[in-house]
Amino acid sequence: MSSNQRIKKVCEHCNEIFIAQKATTKYCSLICAQRNYKLREKRERLKKAEAPAVVDSPPPVEKDGVVKAEAPAGMGI
Ligand SMILES: [Zn+2]
Repeated sequence: MSSNQRIKKVCEHCNEIFIAQKATTKYCSLICAQRNYKLREKRERLKKAEAPAVVDSPPPVEKDGVVKAEAPAGMGI
């Protein structure tokens, strides 16, 4: 008689309280599960896309330790 258990859980996507029938359920609905999965997939893609862009632009090289002051102080305000 343990096949129909009900567990109170909080959706990992929308933080809504819902009744789960399995202890492994993480989301209140299939829509939340799909949205969370796509969100994570998108984040992973952004991470991978950002990484090479940083390597692409090398830091400016200073010559003889001289730093050019292009913007005078007190101009931004
Ligand atoms: Zn949800």
